Amino acid sequence: MPIYEYVCKKCTKHFEVLSTSSNDAEIVKCPECQSLEVKKTISSGTFRMSSGGSSLPCGPPSGCPSNSGFS
Ligand SMILES: [Zn+2]
Repeated sequence: MPIYEYVCKKCTKHFEVLSTSSNDAEIVKCPECQSLEVKKTISSGTFRMSSGGSSLPCGPPSGCPSNSGFS
């Protein structure tokens, strides 16, 4: 069964939901604040935040050569 990743619009909590049915319009609630204002996000293994616009995979601290503009 596919696992879908959601993000709550209210508290910005990320959580995963195991799809139990093929119904695409199933009700998903935020486990944190019980809000229904959730958005499905793409969960594709390597999750890359779009911060800085760098395409370099910098893991450890000070591993990024140019991290300007993002303190
Ligand atoms: Zn929430």
